[in-house]
Amino acid sequence: MSKKIIYWHRCDLRLHDNECLHLSCVDNQQVLPVYIYDERHYQNLDLGFRKTSYQRYLYLKDTLNDLRESYKKIGGNLLILFGKPEDLLPQLVITHQCEELIYQKEIMSEETSVESQLEINLKLTPCKITAIWGKTLYHLDDLPFAVKDIPLTSKAFRINTSKNAEPRAVFPTPTFINCVQLSDYGDISQKSKIGFTEQELQTTYDKKAFPAGETAALQRLQYYTFDSHLVETYKWTRNKSLGVDFSSKFSGYLALGSLSPRLVYFTVKEYETKIKRNISTWWLIFEVVWRDYFSFLGLRQGDKVFFQGGHLNKKAVWEENYELFNKWKNGETGIPFVDAHMKQLSRSGFMSNRGRVNTASFLAYDYRVDWRWGAAWFESLLIDYDVCSNWFNWNTQALHIYYTNPVHQSVKYDKNTDFISSELDYLNKLSKYNRHAPWLLTDEELSDHGINEYHRPVEIYKKWNRSIINIEKLITSKI
Ligand SMILES: Cc1cc2nc3c(=O)[nH]c(=O)nc-3n(C[C@H](O)[C@H](O)[C@H](O)COP(=O)(O)OP(=O)(O)OC[C@H]3O[C@@H](n4cnc5c(N)ncnc54)[C@H](O)[C@@H]3O)c2cc1C
Repeated sequence: MSKKIIYWHRCDLRLHDNECLHLSCVDNQQVLPVYIYDERHYQNLDLGFRKTSYQRYLYLKDTLNDLRESYKKIGGNLLILFGKPEDLLPQLVITHQCEELIYQKEIMSEETSVESQLEINLKLTPCKITAIWGKTLYHLDDLPFAVKDIPLTSKAFRINTSKNAEPRAVFPTPTFINCVQLSDYGDISQKSKIGFTEQELQTTYDKKAFPAGETAALQRLQYYTFDSHLVETYKWTRNKSLGVDFSSKFSGYLALGSLSPRLVYFTVKEYETKIKRNISTWWLIFEVVWRDYFSFLGLRQGDKVFFQGGHLNKKAVWEENYELFNKWKNGETGIPFVDAHMKQLSRSGFMSNRGRVNTASFLAYDYRVDWRWGAAWFESLLIDYDVCSNWFNWNTQALHIYYTNPVHQSVKYDKNTDFISSELDYLNKLSKYNRHAPWLLTDEELSDHGINEYHRPVEIYKKWNRSIINIEKLITSKI
């Protein structure tokens, strides 16, 4: 009888370049791949929304569906459960008399506390636990520093790591799996157990723009590099917000692990060797290393990233103002560049990096609302939510970098595109430059354009004066 193994899938929802799967499949061992929707991820927060929204759940569900289909193609399947992994996995170990449990290690306490409890719950069984590092481009063991010495600046991390470490080679994709046979592998959808409301069930993510799962991830990687050559212009397009191709859109795949960061790295390297190497190809890798930096910083700084003063304990005064928070969250601040991005997030589950920078800065610096509320809203909605990327980026925007002026950025980044009106179609009725600052028009003028749904800003801050004068000049010169 061959050995039986449970492979517990977490944020590693792929067959390619997967060390856990590779180890599970060696010597033709019998494997039971399982994914467990963790019930705690769907709880309602005091802020009045779920920790994980229905749209993010849908993206995960579609990713799992793709993974199950891929398993079937190699003779396997994926067991789906709902509950607490630390309770359900020991039950599976006992029922199937498994000798080993393999999983990919996580970084932050919410996830690692599940790992610790699992270890305790499995103590009385002979089951061995194998926890593998696999989230990042660079392997933890290959870093040129101990965890406690991981640099606090991205530059020091990047330069030192790229000089002294190499990403490991990718693991081959298995072509066969000796899967533990079950009569029922469970429904991919567990929405009834979560208990989403009718209203929540009306929401979705943009499936056309962001098709979920490993199959789509591999196609996107091929498309963004060798098929379209978009990788060559990435540096000059990455700050846009309109459309799909201005940036790679790898984030959802990387967050759920349906795309391996090493595969991204080696594909871009191959592109550089065979086709072209330029500042754009370099920059894409730079961003993937940025993701690594936040992951490793999470390992060093831990839960401090969730504190009000952030991981470096910065002093600042924050307001608990639900009215302002709701305006921000619903895209009703009256600043079209902010509102369009917030609407984009609710509609699609995605927001461009430029949008994330501006909306985070607006909530923190203009509204002075507790930045952690904003981070929680992003966590709930973003299909590419990643604990380290989200919370460290929010730390950076709210506590560590200078102010981002959304009125200035609106003109700078949406002067020659129609992003604002693509999300706020009622502004279509205004001239191109009026769309950046509709508050300059009177109620009567807005009404003459048939616009009744515009929410005026609570305050026009003095710090926007120069940008507003600039918009006024554009309006008079173009009308
Ligand atoms: C407030 C705020 C919150 C954010 N929350 C998340 C999040 O939850 N999950 C997430 O993946 N990214 C997050 N980001 C980073 C960034 O906005 C997204 O990774 C990016 O917009 C995704 O689009 P893309 O895949 O086309 O990125 P590209 O520009 O094509 O970049 C390629 C990859 O590099 C990585 N990357 C790029 N920029 C960053 C960054 N600033 N920090 C970390 N990794 C980066 C991503 O994995 C991305 O897929 C956040 C940024 C801000 C300012």
